[in-house]
Amino acid sequence: MDQRLKHIVDNFETMKIGLDEKFKFNCTMCGKCCIDRDDILLTPKDLFKISNALGLIISDFLKQYCEVYIGHSSKVPIVRLLPVGPMKRCPLLKGNRCAVHHVKPVVCAMFPIGRCLQLDDESKRNGEFTARDIQYIFTNPGCGDKRKEHTVREWLKDFNISDEDEFFVKWHQTIAVLSRFMRENESKLDEHYLNGLENLIFLVLYLSYDFEKDFFPQFVYNADLLIEKIKNFKIGGAE
Ligand code: SF4
Ligand code: SF4
Repeated sequence: MDQRLKHIVDNFETMKIGLDEKFKFNCTMCGKCCIDRDDILLTPKDLFKISNALGLIISDFLKQYCEVYIGHSSKVPIVRLLPVGPMKRCPLLKGNRCAVHHVKPVVCAMFPIGRCLQLDDESKRNGEFTARDIQYIFTNPGCGDKRKEHTVREWLKDFNISDEDEFFVKWHQTIAVLSRFMRENESKLDEHYLNGLENLIFLVLYLSYDFEKDFFPQFVYNADLLIEKIKNFKIGGAE
């Protein structure tokens, strides 16, 4: 497991922070959090916003800046920014500045706040999550200074991130359903068919968007289409 992720898992309870709790942090723009990074994962929404801002179609942005791989546990396609050189600089770091500052990936925009879904057993079983299940953490990174104080709610608002982020919830619901399906069926499918399914998920979830239209309705349509397809899926025959 990545060291940063392991630190969060090991210290999760002490890192938890409520929406109206305060934390002290002031970014001094040193750019260090964009170096030695190979863990910046992009959602379809990040890809849509960044590609559009750079004037690239999504597939070209992926070719230039990203790596796509199949998650070891999730078994679904994952996109990450591909670091550059021995310092493992983020490919979007130009000098000390983020080249896509106004549309940076949400994990970067929220830093040093992180978020995840904290689910009870019933939510895990029925796959029904809501924004009430979102849990925030303060990662206390030890950089910057402590000259400013914020609540999490204020921090999110400053970066135009909703505390009832519909995309975040729908994204995790979709990944949970697809991941369960891929894990359950991996051993039953031949390699060719499995690759075809992985490609389909990647194409529909990450690439099938029109920049002229709003992102979220397109995402909901694509996600529901995939979920419908796997519901009707039968091994050994077409769905
Ligand atoms: S996307 Fe921007 S903020 Fe995020 S790691 Fe890269 S350069 Fe830094
Ligand atoms: S978040 Fe921290 S490491 Fe990143 S630029 Fe700001 S002060 Fe530097």
